[in-house]
Amino acid sequence: MVEEFEKKIAESVHRIMESLPPEVTLVAAVKGRSVAEVRAAIEAGVTHVGHNYIQEAELMVDLMRDSAKWHMIGHLQRNKAKKAVRLFDKVETVDSWHLARELDKRCARMAKTMPVLIEVNSGREASKTGVMPEDVEGLVWHMRELEHLRVQGLMTMGPRFGDPEHARPFFQETRKAFDRLARMDLPHVSMHYLSMGMTNSYRVAIEEGANVVRIGTKIFGQRGSEG
Ligand SMILES: *Cc1c(COP(=O)(O)O)cnc(C)c1O
Repeated sequence: MVEEFEKKIAESVHRIMESLPPEVTLVAAVKGRSVAEVRAAIEAGVTHVGHNYIQEAELMVDLMRDSAKWHMIGHLQRNKAKKAVRLFDKVETVDSWHLARELDKRCARMAKTMPVLIEVNSGREASKTGVMPEDVEGLVWHMRELEHLRVQGLMTMGPRFGDPEHARPFFQETRKAFDRLARMDLPHVSMHYLSMGMTNSYRVAIEEGANVVRIGTKIFGQRGSEG
């Protein structure tokens, strides 16, 4: 029997996927969601799932590893790098040389090569994670030596606004950093993915060049803590 919540999730996934240009990948952002909710999204056609928290992700990935590609989209602490390498197919949130080096070391031990994105703090907010826009090139330049990581692009959250138009300059700034890196043509670096935009801002993000959007609320509804 199909439950009501599964129907709603499937409808949302279908509606979003039909509205996205073909080159844009939907990553379902699933922090705080149940295994049943995530399974419903995958059954409705979601092929990429993003999680913020290692511990919550562990159970899901072990149950559904082959049903989707798993992206780490939350802040990653260095002492969790080993688990992240075991669990995820891509880490979208590399934001320091120390973390990059640790991931590389862990990948080497597991004979794995990890695709990564660099998280940009496009709003230059002290409270947010990510590399400052002006420091992105320096970090990626360093990372060209890491044999087990492949830099594939950039990710940004941007400041959260009620009006998504206000996020546009931050997406534009991230896009500019993306284009500069692409022109540098570094080894182990191929700029393919620009991961920007969430439920309230993904349309603006796509207009500014995003080809990965991370959407939670519009698929699953408000999270419990948000009422
Ligand atoms: C929660 C989250 C999202 C999705 O946010 P919604 O507003 O629920 O769509 C996207 N990216 C990251 C990094 C998140 O933590």
